[in-house]
Amino acid sequence: MTTIATSITDLIGHTPLLELQKYSTNRGLRARLLAKLEYLNPLGSVKDRTAWSIIRQAEESGALQPGGTIVDVTSGNTGISLAAIAARHGYRTKFYLSDNISPDKITLLQAFGADVVTVPNVNFADPPFLATLVERIRTENPDAYFTDQLANPANPQAHYSTTGPEIWADTDGQVDILVTGVGTGGTVTGTAKYLREHNPDLQVVLAEPGLGSLPTEENPYPHEIDGVHKVTEVETEYLPDNFDPAAPTEVIALETADARTAAQALAAEEGLLIGTSAGAITWVATQLAQRPENAGKTIVAVLPDSGERYLAAGTFATASAQTDGRVPQPA
Ligand code: PMP
Repeated sequence: MTTIATSITDLIGHTPLLELQKYSTNRGLRARLLAKLEYLNPLGSVKDRTAWSIIRQAEESGALQPGGTIVDVTSGNTGISLAAIAARHGYRTKFYLSDNISPDKITLLQAFGADVVTVPNVNFADPPFLATLVERIRTENPDAYFTDQLANPANPQAHYSTTGPEIWADTDGQVDILVTGVGTGGTVTGTAKYLREHNPDLQVVLAEPGLGSLPTEENPYPHEIDGVHKVTEVETEYLPDNFDPAAPTEVIALETADARTAAQALAAEEGLLIGTSAGAITWVATQLAQRPENAGKTIVAVLPDSGERYLAAGTFATASAQTDGRVPQPA
């Protein structure tokens, strides 16, 4: 049997679980903390699973025709995954993004040939805006295939059929607590559904951005936890269709500074470079691992992407950086 892949899509999934041993020992954590490293997908994020599931189903149903155009609204990672698979399969792509998006992500989208349209970030602070934007996308691109990651069932289905089973198999069914964030809700809805079918007592905990990390009229460009949204105190009609509000047993809010602290700690202590939402999920998992009632339990934290996507955003900028004089200093 050959093990040579013939398309990037052959390389999606089967990401490893890494026990955060040194990080846990340094903090005296009582639970076993396992990180699922989604940045090891070929396009560098958990969204490879979603993008491939959506494109595959659209090809099978005939909704996506050869040479067609794919459009969606994305915080970057879904677009990057869709654009790369589209390049391999011969489709064009066009994405609508907030104008606060990490510059690294825009460059990646363009590398795969995507057209990029930016929208003022503050608009996203107003929940009804998203529906207006979706309407605009459909009007401006009448012949395109709108992937609709917020509502397309192929999104949670990808996690039900891959992420969940991988966690179950790799832990030998020893998983007590799942920690994620919610962008579209695909990860938590699909993964929790599969794991609960095997362990009805599974706890599911979400990391959500605190009020200081969300755009407002007064502060339209705060440091944000890219890719994840607030889900508590949001009217049901404004939650993504792909988010099952019954999936979480608990939601813990935190600010971007906390998420960055956790991401920096994993870089410094484990040599692991993770993104901001992954930092947020790690921060929440750490709180859970410190609780006496969780002693001896296994926590799986699904870490969506790599810190390399947020270098320009300053996630790893620390006061301790030193220079021998060769590195140009900011003016
Ligand atoms: N973190 C990052 C960096 C993401 O790009 C996303 C997807 N937008 C998520 C978390 C959330 O994943 P999901 O859409 O499956 O809820």
